[in-house]
Amino acid sequence: MKLPIVAYGDPVLKKVCEDIDQNYPKLDTLIADMFETMYHANGVGLAAPQIGLPIRLFIVDTRADEDEPPFKKVFINAQILEETGEPWAFNEGCLSIPDVREDIMRKPNILIRYYDENWNLFEENYDGFTARVIQHEYDHIEGKLFTDKLSLLRKQLIKGRLDAISKGRVSTDYKMKFPKVNKKR
Ligand SMILES: [Zn+2]
Repeated sequence: MKLPIVAYGDPVLKKVCEDIDQNYPKLDTLIADMFETMYHANGVGLAAPQIGLPIRLFIVDTRADEDEPPFKKVFINAQILEETGEPWAFNEGCLSIPDVREDIMRKPNILIRYYDENWNLFEENYDGFTARVIQHEYDHIEGKLFTDKLSLLRKQLIKGRLDAISKGRVSTDYKMKFPKVNKKR
């Protein structure tokens, strides 16, 4: 089932998300729905707060990018333990912030600890585009968005655009939930 994607401005995107355990209800269905939602929106990653749930769960599938090796994974209760190397710029976007893309600096190498969907614990290193997507999704479960990393000047320049998104003045091929629209009668 495709779920609506929460738009910029919703408080759930600002929450530091909580760990879940193996008793979390209908986790398999939730993960399947998140993949369906992400593929429909042509995303390479999706975090639970983006569908309105403040839990430490995100998914990644970078297969959409033909230059990259196939990579599809579920990250539960993830903790990034280390980020190393010289920061590099990459033009990031976000399904919650349609039509906004900005160059964001991040370190290239990460060490991350997480459970997969079968509750196997992993500690793995990633780099390149895969690390970049993981870092972006990880920020979501920490209540951060890529726009938080912009300079004051860039923030000023896109402020109008962000306000418009939160009010639903944006058109997407996927269904969204807008904080300042749904509250209206
Ligand atoms: Zn995002």
